[in-house]
Amino acid sequence: MKITLKPVGDVADGTMEKLKDRVGSVFHCPIETKTGFGDLAQAYDPERNQYDSSKLLASLGKAEREERAVGVAAVDLYVPRLHFVFGEADIDLGTAIVSLCRLRQDYYGLDPDEALFLERATKEIVHELGHTFGLEHCPNNKCVMHFSNSLADTDVKEAHFCDKCRPKIIL
Ligand SMILES: [Zn+2]
Ligand SMILES: [Zn+2]
Repeated sequence: MKITLKPVGDVADGTMEKLKDRVGSVFHCPIETKTGFGDLAQAYDPERNQYDSSKLLASLGKAEREERAVGVAAVDLYVPRLHFVFGEADIDLGTAIVSLCRLRQDYYGLDPDEALFLERATKEIVHELGHTFGLEHCPNNKCVMHFSNSLADTDVKEAHFCDKCRPKIIL
């Protein structure tokens, strides 16, 4: 099994590399970054000024056999019935997508905090990868598979799987 991170739109190479290292330290399998795609126009909703998460996820296509892939987007993502989503996964495709937009302190008018941003992004990527491995949400609020309704939930949980969830991941 290997994990691939793909930038969706404009994401700094340095950010992708740092996320690769962090996500790789949670999953003990090979992890690489690959070219994603840059044209997000098909998923843009001008009324919401957001991007349709499911459309971008579908554009990533199906992961290879023995692969799980995550698109990493800088833009804000939504699904029709929600104001926004941190991410979304498709277990059949073996693919997920995560938005970095609302993980930055600057989004809320606060001072930038790179370490906190990377920690949050790692949690959200690991969470969506967990879904691609068939995991559901976990009631343990420290577990990375706990559902994040808000950023406060993301900050409470840790970047790794609890003792109940970890054995369910078969690499
Ligand atoms: Zn989830
Ligand atoms: Zn758990």
